Amino acid sequence: MQFNLHNSFTSALPADSIQENKSRQVEGAGYSYVIPRKPSSPKMLHFADELAADCGWTSEDMQSEWILHLLSGSEIHPESQPYAMCYGGHQFGHWAGQLGDGRAINLFEHIHNGHRFSFQLKGAGPTPYSRNADGLAVLRSSIREYLCSEAIHYLSIPTTRALSIITTGDEVLRDVLYDGHPAMEKGAIICRLAPSFIRFGNFEIFASRKDIKNLKLLTDYTIQYFYPHITSNEATKYLDFFKEVSQRTLDLILDWQRVGFVHGVMNTDNMSILGLSIDYGPYGWVEDYDPNWTPNTTDAQGKRYRYGNQANVALWNLVQLANALYPLIENVPALEEVLKNFHTTWEMRYPAMLANKLGLNAIETDHKNLALELTNLLAEEETDMTIFYRLIAHAEKTMINTDVFQIISPAFYNLEVMTDEIKLKWQNWIDRYLICIKGDTKSDLERKTEMNKLNPKYVLRNYMAHLAIDAAEKEDYRVLNELYNLLKKPYDEQPEYEKWFVKRPEWARTKIGCSMLSCSS
Ligand code: AMP
Ligand code: MG
Repeated sequence: MQFNLHNSFTSALPADSIQENKSRQVEGAGYSYVIPRKPSSPKMLHFADELAADCGWTSEDMQSEWILHLLSGSEIHPESQPYAMCYGGHQFGHWAGQLGDGRAINLFEHIHNGHRFSFQLKGAGPTPYSRNADGLAVLRSSIREYLCSEAIHYLSIPTTRALSIITTGDEVLRDVLYDGHPAMEKGAIICRLAPSFIRFGNFEIFASRKDIKNLKLLTDYTIQYFYPHITSNEATKYLDFFKEVSQRTLDLILDWQRVGFVHGVMNTDNMSILGLSIDYGPYGWVEDYDPNWTPNTTDAQGKRYRYGNQANVALWNLVQLANALYPLIENVPALEEVLKNFHTTWEMRYPAMLANKLGLNAIETDHKNLALELTNLLAEEETDMTIFYRLIAHAEKTMINTDVFQIISPAFYNLEVMTDEIKLKWQNWIDRYLICIKGDTKSDLERKTEMNKLNPKYVLRNYMAHLAIDAAEKEDYRVLNELYNLLKKPYDEQPEYEKWFVKRPEWARTKIGCSMLSCSS
């Protein structure tokens, strides 16, 4: 088993001079060296075979004792020195000061075939950034992060990956609903991989402490390793960097909106500087289409992180990043221009993305308007977003003037009580849609094929993750395995898995872990 270890991040930035693993404010450093806690009896539940292969490792390698020890924090690779990163963040709109890797420990960077993989254990014990918490993670939240990282990746959306999920054999105390009823849960550790885990918050913490020297070191490092094509100099270099982060962030949110993903906690410490989806906590997929929906009970009041607000929040977060980078750029109009551009680009690309979901030409205003009107209609009645977009792909040019409502009817949650008025609105919308597709040069099959590449058939609905978790708590990993396989091909027809192409079952509507999720993990 080959390792090609690097430590670019720890070489580029100063380390915390204190080695003691005690909660504290860490100043003048990018990270603190820390040793993971030894789990009592680690057991590999699942590993990502294709990701392991990308690292140059076989399935046998992944089943070795050595990898179990390494990815559970039991043993440290002799050429590595694990560390936790220092970052800050704006949480729910307010500056929260130092946060940092409170329960994440970076092991090393491994390079294979020119790809850099930073290895990070989540749930391997406390660090100087743990504040009053334990640095651990439970099986429930680890399965959610494991499955979702891979689901998002196979949807072709940039994300941190998850290589393995391991139970520790230790118990962890958690108060799932924060209602004063804590209980013991099974502990687990996932190993996450990404080129880098740097967040907006890594820049913010240095800026907040007026530590311009380290702010510059961090930005230079990020550009050199992850934006090497930026070749401008001085302030222009940093501005170009900000422009690209802004573009990548916009691309990411467009992708999330396209597949109906709601992150749930878009604090600036959960925003990757590489434009990756990162930190899967109380996330969810829109089921009955509702732009105001948030899966996060902690956010139920303000709904700051609701589905329809993700682009606004991303822009707000970019403003915070602009403030943090300001000392390196010192050009307010130029930064404002980038932020304005985010807004205007969004206004252009969002309706185009919606039109593409319908197989329509994104240049014509009529088509874009039709796609936008659809979002209003979808919100009027409980309509399953994923199912709707897959079903509407069955529309054909010859269906004009026929009763095509039946094609989409399985997408509605309450079809029996739908009023004639709503049905008529739908019929009108479909009639206009059929006219649009009839006027298009694309064949029905071509359009359907294109649409099915944008509209996933299978997404990780919260009730599905819940079923996998319930079974795994009883040491039955069949659902976990099945969902993992299913979500590898989210855009494909998979007749053997048709049972997962269904609306959320009624029992999941109000169930904890399905409709209500907290940050407790
Ligand atoms: P999150 O809401 O999961 O993004 O976490 C926000 C901050 O709290 C980050 O600095 C985390 O590392 C930290 N944190 C969350 N849960 C724990 C935990 N169980 N132990 C230590 N730190 C934690
Ligand atoms: Mg986080």
